[in-house]
Amino acid sequence: MARATVKIPTPLRPFADGKAEVASNGGTVGAVVEDVAANFPALRKHLYTPEGKLRSFVSVYLNDEDVRHLQRDATPVKDGDVVSIVPAIAGGAPASARPPPGPALTVLGSAPPAADTFNAEDLRRYSRHILLPEVGVAGQKRLRRSKVLLVGAGGLGAPTALYLAAAGVGEIGLVDFDEIELSNLQRQVLYTTRDLGRPKLEAARDRLEALNPGVRVVPIAERLTAANAMDTLRPYDVVVDGTDNFPTRYLVNDACVLLGKPTVYGSVYRFEGQASVFDAKRGPCYRCLYPEPPPPDLVPSCAEGGVLGVLPGLIGVIQATETVKLLLGAGEPLIGRLLLYDALAMRFRELTLRKNPTCVLCSPTATQHGLIDYLAFCGVPDPAAPSEASGLPEITPEALRDELAGPDPPTLVDVREPNEWEIVHLDGARLIPRGQLPDRLSELTGARRLVVYCRTGGRSSQATRLLLDLGFTNVRNLRGGITAWAQRIDPTLPTY
Ligand SMILES: [Zn+2]
Repeated sequence: MARATVKIPTPLRPFADGKAEVASNGGTVGAVVEDVAANFPALRKHLYTPEGKLRSFVSVYLNDEDVRHLQRDATPVKDGDVVSIVPAIAGGAPASARPPPGPALTVLGSAPPAADTFNAEDLRRYSRHILLPEVGVAGQKRLRRSKVLLVGAGGLGAPTALYLAAAGVGEIGLVDFDEIELSNLQRQVLYTTRDLGRPKLEAARDRLEALNPGVRVVPIAERLTAANAMDTLRPYDVVVDGTDNFPTRYLVNDACVLLGKPTVYGSVYRFEGQASVFDAKRGPCYRCLYPEPPPPDLVPSCAEGGVLGVLPGLIGVIQATETVKLLLGAGEPLIGRLLLYDALAMRFRELTLRKNPTCVLCSPTATQHGLIDYLAFCGVPDPAAPSEASGLPEITPEALRDELAGPDPPTLVDVREPNEWEIVHLDGARLIPRGQLPDRLSELTGARRLVVYCRTGGRSSQATRLLLDLGFTNVRNLRGGITAWAQRIDPTLPTY
């Protein structure tokens, strides 16, 4: 029996009494993880399926090696070993395979044509690059001939875009369809307070072209889908994944593998970030690491869990660094390595990622040769569908206002987290975070009529379903959540 340290990642810490690491006993990796699950029962459902199998979106590492490439659960553990649990996270997630030794210097930027010259101003602008032997005038011209696509112009995309524009990357494509909100400005440094309400792409283009008029910014104001992804990605040399959701993340990965392009991956959650480079020609793809996404209700998003503002800045700058290196063919890319960053501990770690020899997408025995329905694959309701809570009893904000003013007002249940409650809540509501609901049902048994709400209606529809399944008969979901209430009933309330 050995004593090992088990590293608990940020998203799972709430289920392990907030601990970042715990000591655990066992002779094998399987026994060590089982020991942790036994000590923290709330953690179990995040680690194991109901059948007792380790979930496929959870990777386990012994020291820096993925145990799938050792002896899996049966891998022996010695005293002092470090076992890391690394789940897929939405604002960013990890991958797997060691970079092959040898001829790694693939140059992705197109070679400059003979007549491609820099004027005196260009030479001065890029002089600190040109002084580097690894760049020089030839490398700088490569950057100018290069095209990079940023999927997402948010927390990760903002710093990446700024540095790629400053570096003189010739064309930057930006995929995004959001408008700038006040809550974006804590981290999305591409935008200013004056830009509030503008489409991100418009503000981004102004800012990037002001920074470097030599850069062409191509705004792509569409949701990336299986129908348009191949054509959208095809013209670009490198794709930077700055998405915050699993359907787009798998879509970008799959399209890049099929097109033979590298993806520069980054992801953030609370105080923890991840970065890697997926290039199926030279290493693993995202699916080698996580063959399947987590169920949508098991992993919180940054909108629920929060994120330290500087964190996407740091991860985005790492993504920009890797992109420039790929374009130049300089240095050692982050292929086959997953970089983990913990801002609270101010510590970087690196895990080895390996190609999955049976990956459905990038292995010789691949069975998937095209794009699929990613919303269905990730179990996410189609946002274009009429109602995500179809079949569930709902109440509109207007109807709720009338009922609350009436003789028999319903009991309001807020299923968000305490920090969200502190930002805004409805008068008279009762706070029971969704995860605690099954243990706190007794607080609701006296209530005859319940209305459940969250930020925008997603978590509350799950809670409504749960309450109905448990036998509560008069439960309704507030459609659009407290955000819709603030927009339509009480505009003095803050939204976030
Ligand atoms: Zn793969």
